[in-house]
Formats: sequence, C-alpha cells, structure tokens
Amino acid sequence: MSRRVPQGHELGELGVAVAYDGVRVLVVGGPARALGVVTRLIQRGARVDVVAPEVATSVQDLAERAVLAWTARDYCADDLPGAGLVVIACHDPAQSALVRADCARLGIPTADVTAELSNGAATDETGDQQTTVVQPRPGSVVLVGGGPGDPGLLTVAGLAAIRAAEVVVVDRLAPLEVLRELGSDVQVVDVAKIPRGRFTPQEQINEVLLEHARAGRRVVRLKGGDSFVFGRGMEEVIACREAGIEVAVIPGVTSAVAAPELAGIPVTHRGLVQGFAVVSGHAAPDDPRSTVDWAALASSGLTIVILMGVETLPRIAAALLVGGRPTATPVACVMDAAGPRQRTVRTDLGALAQGTLPQGIAPPAVTVVGEVAALVDVAS
Ligand code: SAH
Repeated sequence: MSRRVPQGHELGELGVAVAYDGVRVLVVGGPARALGVVTRLIQRGARVDVVAPEVATSVQDLAERAVLAWTARDYCADDLPGAGLVVIACHDPAQSALVRADCARLGIPTADVTAELSNGAATDETGDQQTTVVQPRPGSVVLVGGGPGDPGLLTVAGLAAIRAAEVVVVDRLAPLEVLRELGSDVQVVDVAKIPRGRFTPQEQINEVLLEHARAGRRVVRLKGGDSFVFGRGMEEVIACREAGIEVAVIPGVTSAVAAPELAGIPVTHRGLVQGFAVVSGHAAPDDPRSTVDWAALASSGLTIVILMGVETLPRIAAALLVGGRPTATPVACVMDAAGPRQRTVRTDLGALAQGTLPQGIAPPAVTVVGEVAALVDVAS
C-alpha cells in the first residue's frame, strides 16, 4: 500500500528525515542534474519511475539494475495516477508547465529539481570543520574519491571541494545524492561507464575535464571509492599535467575495505590473517590479459579482495583451488554496499568453483576470500 505524501510537501524536506517507503514518485526527465534528488528518494524508500525519451547514463544504469523504472518516451498525463510526488526535471519550460498544471488538477504535489538544487546550496553542515581542504581553483581539476556510495562516507575535504565546484563530472558508483547540494548554476556531467553497456571513453572524459578547466572553471571529478583504486584517476592526473592544468587529489574511502566492513568483515584480524590483497577480477585467470599470479595469491596466506568481474568468480575460485587454497575457504560477496539494497551472499571456494554463480550474486560487488569472510554479519 502506498502512503501519500502530504499536500504542500516540498522536496526540500528531503533534507530532513522524511520516509518515502513505498511512495511512487514520478520523475519527468532524466538529466544528470536530477541524479542527486533521484538517488536521495530511492535511499528514502521511494519507488521511482522515470519517464523521458533520453536519460543520463547513470539513470540508465539504475534502471538496468532495477533500482528504478525508466519508460523511454515523452511524458503523458496517464503517467500521473498513483504518484505521491512528481519531480519535474525536464529541460523544456513548456513541458514543465504542462506537468505542473496536470498535477495541480489531480492534487499531486510537485517538486522542481532546479528550485530544489538552488535551495540546497545554502546549507553548510561542515562550515566549522577543520580540514586541509584542497579547494578547486578557477581553471583547475580536483579528483574527489567519493567513498562507496553513501554521502556520509564522503570525506569532509571532498564535500567542501564539491560545494566549491562549478562543474562536477560524475561516475555511476559515486555518492550521487550529494549532487542535491549543488547550486542551479553548477553543471553536472555524467560520464558513467555501464559494464558492457553505454559508456564514455576515458579519452573523452579527460577531454571534458580539460575543456572545462581551460575555460577557467573549478572542476571536480567525483568518483566512487578512491580515485586511485581501479578508478583510472592517475590517467586523468597525467592528462591534466600534460595539458598544464593544475590538478589535485582528495583520497576516498575505497569499497575494497568499506564494502566488507559494512557487512561486518574485517579485511585483517589479529590471529587470523596478517594482510590483504586487492585484485581486479575483470580478466579471469585463464584470460591472456590477466597479469595476476593467482597461484601466488592462493598460497600467500592473505585475505583476497576481488573488485569487478562478478561473472569471472567461478574461474577465479578454480584457480585458487589449483593454487592450494582449501575448498572450505569462506567467501563472502557484498553487493551494493552502503545503500539500501546492500546484501551479502556467503559461500565457499569449492561451491564457487562449481561453475555457476550462487543465487543472488550481481554487480556491483566486492568479494572477500579468506577466513575473515566467515565473520560476516548475516543480517547485513
Ligand atoms: N575506485 C573504486 C573502485 C572502482 S572499480 C573504489 O575504490 O571503491 C568498480 C568496482 O568497485 C565494482 O565493480 C565493485 O567491485 C566495486 N564497488 C564500488 N562500489 C561498490 C559498492 N557500493 N558495493 C559493492 N561494490 C562496489
């Protein structure tokens, strides 16, 4: 049963603890600028339906992962029944006016993304925090590691840099909710890469950064986790340096450590394991592109943390068994960490090597192989 949002409700209230459990929210339009509000609503339990002929890559990614529903066509009045709130995020003022009028007739509260975004910019929760902030200067680029997805896991310095930005260039796994804070004059560029799907090539991302910096803007490049952990951050730093553009990096909380931790798994634990290795699972052990010595990893005695490439996990498990890891070695797969959809699947190396992925494993996921995986908090 869906709870209706009270009349007169303003999206600004999203800043405080308003629950949207089960409320259907219709979003008309799907630009990158709407990502902050949309992800915030999802976080608060809303069922989000986006209607727009075209959407930003990260909106499409959320649709493909069934986090929201996207109907690829223009808005029509038939979309409204059942909506508890309508978010207007379309470019065309005439269409915005039409949606607003239709909603008024049916008594459905509306929220305009542009208005909301400019209000949000006035708030400053970190004003009196002490930090050696790397502030983006005109004509410079600051890479911000955004943590695993919850804005609460963004650093104080990272948030300050975002608030000072004139252009924010984002990835799909970045803490997108924080984009709500931006003033309406701030440009959001979505350069997400959907695995095996729609993506912006790295060279083009570099070019976007350089182009805005050359135009004298304060550019923030917001990524998920830490920019230098499988984040291609150094490529962007090099591109800036080669172009003579000032560039700085603010470290982030990497999902390699945070995802296991949020599921109750310590990557090291005194008496159990003395270290951990973080590896990409993108190229399977039998893939000629793989340069990882899986046999050495198997016998290293370290916790193995695997990012990316969920479908390669059975082949990785098989290689680790060949390398001598016992079949009973605990494995935990932590998916969508730091969000409302976070869940964990617990298995072992022997079962994983069987060839088919255990039920329920889907990207994005961080997989932990080692005794510490048995410490998983099953409720997580
Ligand atoms: N720079 C990022 C990693 C980028 S590679 C970092 O430091 O976290 C992308 C991979 O990170 C995903 O395939 C997945 O393995 C992992 N990942 C990132 N965010 C995640 C999340 N919220 N939950 C689970 N895995 C995540």
